[in-house]
Amino acid sequence: MQTLTLRTRLEPTPAQADALQETLERFAQACNLTLEVARACRTFSKFKLQRLVYGQLRALGLSANLAIRAIARVGRRKGHRAKHYRPTSCDYDQRTLSLRGESVSLSTTHGRLRIPMRLSPYHRYWLARARSVQGGRLLRDRRGRWYVHLTVRVAVPEALPTGRVVGVDLGQRLLAALSTGERLSGGALKTKRLHYRAKRAEIRSKLDRPSERTRSLRRLWARLSGRERRFVRQVLHEASRRIVDGLAPGDVLAIEDLRGLRGRTKRKGKAARHLHQLWPYGLFRHLLEYKARLKGVRVVVVDPAHTSRTCPRCGHIDRRNRRSGRLFRCRACGFQHNADVVAAMNLARRAGSEGMGRCQPAPGAIPAGGREGKPTTSVVGS
Ligand SMILES: [Zn+2]
Repeated sequence: MQTLTLRTRLEPTPAQADALQETLERFAQACNLTLEVARACRTFSKFKLQRLVYGQLRALGLSANLAIRAIARVGRRKGHRAKHYRPTSCDYDQRTLSLRGESVSLSTTHGRLRIPMRLSPYHRYWLARARSVQGGRLLRDRRGRWYVHLTVRVAVPEALPTGRVVGVDLGQRLLAALSTGERLSGGALKTKRLHYRAKRAEIRSKLDRPSERTRSLRRLWARLSGRERRFVRQVLHEASRRIVDGLAPGDVLAIEDLRGLRGRTKRKGKAARHLHQLWPYGLFRHLLEYKARLKGVRVVVVDPAHTSRTCPRCGHIDRRNRRSGRLFRCRACGFQHNADVVAAMNLARRAGSEGMGRCQPAPGAIPAGGREGKPTTSVVGS
């Protein structure tokens, strides 16, 4: 079983759209009211907030469950805490959202509404495999279009192991290098990120001068960040899609343990360091894992130590194997290849040699091993 988010466009009637709009406004109002109380009482505990504001939220015309969702949004522990909530989205749980054929039934300030969804073959494929709906989020974009992001639990096809292990090395110059030799360029992403960085620096210098701290400038700032975020997501979505398209159910995908990744490259220069820190490895890996698992591909996390200086042919480890940035040349046997692809090959080899690939035991088994008794590989999901 796996949780999947399906983003679908809604097609409400004008009257329904009005009801949705009012619901978003009430929800935002509820969030802001909760936030105010949370600040005044210095507590973000959901339990305490519920006792403090629940009655007031119900008085706004929100259903019991929507009131709870508003409190949950303000009271959540992790992540960014908003300073103010705008009426752009509303959270739903199993009791306030349900599916009725190709429509979604939502609880609103005008009661329960049944709104048709615009579904693609992709949506239909997964909805047919959905075991349950956990809830979702109602959203309205700038242009007034309505969406619902459904959180569904789906049954993922169980595939027999194929014995094939593919390693993927994540980087910047190359977004990803695969042990199959395929390479995905990171060029466009890098250029664009540096472009946005320059733009933001320009705006920031203006924002630092109070006289120029205008509303439009602040809006521009927000728009740029949003645009960059969407661009990065789009590129990573496409890249991970391409990688997973090349895999078959039952394959194993070997990804390096990212904890080592940040420290690995010692780069100089402010721009390079900025890029390295902000490079969305985490998001990329998340998307890869997510798509791989939906396809029945097992994801194995591998300790990346020495993957860039080990020869995949003879196993010789030498720092000098990787002399220049792009080329790997083994000092012992003379094997030559693109350095990033070599790293990917080593990841695949490592995942395979630790029993994850060729002779696959029962699904879910986690092989122990590695140095100091610590497992160097772990299976993500199942
Ligand atoms: Zn060698």
